[in-house]
Amino acid sequence: MNGERQTMNYDDTNIFAKILRGELPSHRVYEDEAVIAFMDVMPQGTGHTLVVPKAGSRNLLDADPATLGPLFAAVRKIAQAVKKAFAADGVVVMQFNEPASGQTVFHLHVHVIPRFDGVPLKPHTGAMEKPEVLAANADKIRQALAG
Ligand code: 5GP
Repeated sequence: MNGERQTMNYDDTNIFAKILRGELPSHRVYEDEAVIAFMDVMPQGTGHTLVVPKAGSRNLLDADPATLGPLFAAVRKIAQAVKKAFAADGVVVMQFNEPASGQTVFHLHVHVIPRFDGVPLKPHTGAMEKPEVLAANADKIRQALAG
């Protein structure tokens, strides 16, 4: 495999673009002028949240640098909120670029995952979580953001 795929264009039919446009549902926890954040449906741990810029890019490699400041300000806010919401010991922040890295949805996004001492992460895009669990976790994060 060569690097050809890295030159592929952004395609706004991806799942996160549809969530941004309100065409697909999500358990949304946060929105500002630059980003939205919602629960990952196949969480690698309790409270796994995705922070997604409204500006369209495939990933970090083709993103407008102006997107990144507001994106990471929101990532920090969500990381603080999930740590508080779940009394986590730490927080992982992850971001994948192109299929070789593990990227499966081609709209830039950052994973924010609470971590607990001695609890391993579940596999990436493993099992679907129950909607009621996602809804309850989203509530906790919204409360932490409000508090
Ligand atoms: P990537 O592999 O591109 O870094 O991560 C994509 C993430 O999106 C995965 O963790 C996967 O579980 C999550 N995901 C895939 N489809 C959906 C969906 O329809 N809704 C939500 N909320 N998350 C999704």
